[in-house]
Amino acid sequence: MVEEKSKTAKLKEKIMMTEPEGIKALSKKEIKKADEFCIGYKAFLDNSPIEREAVRYTVELVKKSGFTKFDPDADYKAGDKVYYINRDKAIALAVIGKNGVKNGARLAIAHIDSPRIDLKPNPLYESNNLALFKTHYYGGLKKYQWTAIPLSLHGTVIKIDGSRVDISWGDKDDESCFCITDLLPHLAKDQSAKPMSKVFTGEDLNVLVGSRPYDTKDEEKDLVKLNVMAILNKKYGICEGDFLSAELCLIPSYKAKDIGFDSSMIGGYGHDDKVCAYPAIMAAVDAAVPEQTCITYLADKEEIGSDGNTGMQSDFLRFFIYDLAKQDGTEGYRALSQSTCLSADVSAAFDPTYASAYEAKNSSYINNGVIISKYTGHGGKYDTSDASAEYMGKIRTMLEKNDILWQVGELGKVDQGGGGTIAKYVANMNVDVVDLGVPVLSMHAPFEIVSKTDVYMAYRAFFAFFDAKD
Ligand code: MN
Ligand code: MN
Repeated sequence: MVEEKSKTAKLKEKIMMTEPEGIKALSKKEIKKADEFCIGYKAFLDNSPIEREAVRYTVELVKKSGFTKFDPDADYKAGDKVYYINRDKAIALAVIGKNGVKNGARLAIAHIDSPRIDLKPNPLYESNNLALFKTHYYGGLKKYQWTAIPLSLHGTVIKIDGSRVDISWGDKDDESCFCITDLLPHLAKDQSAKPMSKVFTGEDLNVLVGSRPYDTKDEEKDLVKLNVMAILNKKYGICEGDFLSAELCLIPSYKAKDIGFDSSMIGGYGHDDKVCAYPAIMAAVDAAVPEQTCITYLADKEEIGSDGNTGMQSDFLRFFIYDLAKQDGTEGYRALSQSTCLSADVSAAFDPTYASAYEAKNSSYINNGVIISKYTGHGGKYDTSDASAEYMGKIRTMLEKNDILWQVGELGKVDQGGGGTIAKYVANMNVDVVDLGVPVLSMHAPFEIVSKTDVYMAYRAFFAFFDAKD
């Protein structure tokens, strides 16, 4: 016998929100698709730890799908696919739509820089027969998390003759790596009495890079340092002065790994924000012939405020859209004014261990799909673009229509801290924008965690956004 629902139960069903079903709403087939999608994502993560490498790997990926280098003077037709690189550190992918950018473009913008440890311009020194690098950390990080873990060196050096060397040292199994040392607990009485922000200062993040002296009978000083430089000179042809014209950084040297007995999650370095970058790349790759031109833009410098000519505050993307508008016989500002954007960035997933930092009703949860953040910022909605009800409505309808798992949330409790994304810089170009991304556990740690189904839902959301008819 089926029990008749009470009047109140019926009313509740009609007008009240229900608990999100999350992953329980997904079929086995859909979950399998998510797992398969994430094989490609893990490869992207392993090959793209820093922005230059992410750009290189993205070009490799999209060339296979028919993307060609953008030529501002060429004539493009609907369905053409182009890529446009900004100084090797940011990249735009465009799929030309039936209407071009006449009615605006559809933008999905993620960032490909992640928190890390940069070398200072004059990094190498010797102390007590150890060779070390001085560093200046990049982005918001809890410094203690970066000690006593294996690190690898990545980046680019421009030599005095103008030639360029790309360096990657420490990722391969048979390669040495580097480490920031920590004090043993037995002697940490003074250290453990300090508040977390004082345990490690920025100047304590010194990286151990060698301990054997240069093999010589000559009575010279700093032979361990000399030995390190001699090794680098032999392998890359660089001298100590070349550090001045270099961008080198240390990142965790391990690969992405499945997490959990059920392998439902992925742990790795740099999910923020490659976990949105990869789905946005694949949405562009899979877009057929969209109504409006679709652009995936992967920006640099988000973690340090989006300044600089490769950050979201630069005019690079604006000028790219101007170029596309010119081809379509319209003004760039008109194309921009009608454009819409998903600011594709991560948010903090609710962590039961640190529940007091979150407000449970307005948090995002692992396996509940993409999170939409109407606003980010801090302290009374400072530093955010705060999406309009109209645009929130449009995106909400799109997600529902396409059966995409989604949730709404804030970064954490009011006045507990806060953070920002590129959304406000996009909004300043007179574009409608809202943040949509993947929830992350341990965000900004050297090993962050995401759910595979959430990664796949991000792909489906960007694809639906590009594919939408209205
Ligand atoms: Mn981010
Ligand atoms: Mn971040």
